[in-house]
Amino acid sequence: MKRLTEDETTLWTALFEQSGDAMVVLRQDGSVYRANQRYADMLGYTLEEMKDLYVWDWDTLFSKQELQEMLLNVDNSSEHFDTRHRRKNGTIIDAELSNNGALYKNENLIFCIVRDTTERKSTEERLRRKEELLQRISSQVPGALYQYRMAPDGARSFPFFSEGIAELGGLTQEQLSGTGTDHIMSHVLPEDAANIEANIQKTARSLTYAYSEFRILHTDGSIRWIESRSTPHKEPDGSTIWTGILLDVTQRKMAEERVKTMAITDGLTGINNRLEFNRLLEQEIERSSRYHMPFSLIMYDLDHFKQVNDRFGHNAGDDVLNTVTRLVNDNIRSIDIHGRWGGEEFMVILPQTCLEAARDVAEKLRRAIATYHFNQVGTVTASFGVTEFIPRDDSKLMAQRADDALYRAKSLGRNRVEV
Ligand code: GH3
Ligand code: MG
Ligand code: MG
Repeated sequence: MKRLTEDETTLWTALFEQSGDAMVVLRQDGSVYRANQRYADMLGYTLEEMKDLYVWDWDTLFSKQELQEMLLNVDNSSEHFDTRHRRKNGTIIDAELSNNGALYKNENLIFCIVRDTTERKSTEERLRRKEELLQRISSQVPGALYQYRMAPDGARSFPFFSEGIAELGGLTQEQLSGTGTDHIMSHVLPEDAANIEANIQKTARSLTYAYSEFRILHTDGSIRWIESRSTPHKEPDGSTIWTGILLDVTQRKMAEERVKTMAITDGLTGINNRLEFNRLLEQEIERSSRYHMPFSLIMYDLDHFKQVNDRFGHNAGDDVLNTVTRLVNDNIRSIDIHGRWGGEEFMVILPQTCLEAARDVAEKLRRAIATYHFNQVGTVTASFGVTEFIPRDDSKLMAQRADDALYRAKSLGRNRVEV
């Protein structure tokens, strides 16, 4: 052990007495050689009382035997450890200890500096409990809680997300930890990523509530709809942090989609229903007026369809309606619009098509139906009325003209086209 000289001792004594840190010097048998005022205060004893104490009188973490062993093993290398001290009044404090030994006047002494860490320990404990609470609560929330950060230089990161994020995107914890924002954002469909970015930019400026819906490619290969709700705030360092929640809304989106489709399609044939067809007809009238373009409208009605129902039954009649719809779909362009106007009355909008060309299309459709062999029912024919858009037309007038032409086709013997 190192031997201290008298001069050094004076210096050390002054330092010892005046130190703001609690210090104690122990003999190798565990008794107190000297304690400073700070240390006595920390334990709640007077300096006089301290002199009669052994280290195991106040250390509660280690047994007397353990302490004795430790004292014998102290050398002049410095050691740090956490322990617990019992104060005179019985209260327990957390202590962080640094010690080393030195030989002084032929005696082995152990020099200890002690720091009361009770405050720090309880702060740590409080933090740990808060974190645990957050973790427990967030595991009860459907979807995932998250924080998204945009640094002043534009760099992005996720300072926090709850476990639910793994399930949302089908990612494992390993895939999530240690991967950057890019990896997570790469699961968003490219056509939706631009919307998200626009929303980030907008709400970073306004610092108002941010809502977005976007699709992600789940690792199981399916596409999921995600809804995000968050509120941004500015940090002192100039970064913006959004705190919010992500929810899988695929089921809701699909239901909405179904309702939307149901509202505009005909249940039997799957083509536009009357309401939607009428909307599309009005849209086409507006477009054609604006661009001074021709377009035509075909109306057709199955001939003697009542007899088909009467002879073969309503189901066979339904099959015929479906087959006719398919035949017509197969014989028109993709820009043409097919709709069911009534029971067995249908219409077709032919954009950018003049009357002559529309008549040819109607003729082609007539032939396609008349030459088709319908299972069980045999041959079915239809009559066609064709009309062209004229300036200042409205949907009612146009439909009426098509209907008139159709009526003429019926009265002239059916299975024919009239304009
Ligand atoms: P016309 O040649 O004059 O058109 O004679 P028609 O028998 O076809 O007469 P009309 O157009 O007045 O009759 C329509 C018939 O179509 C009446 C109805 O029983 C039948 N119908 C209407 N909607 C449906 C349907 O959804 N399914 C079936 N199976 N039949 C329908
Ligand atoms: Mg009919
Ligand atoms: Mg009819």
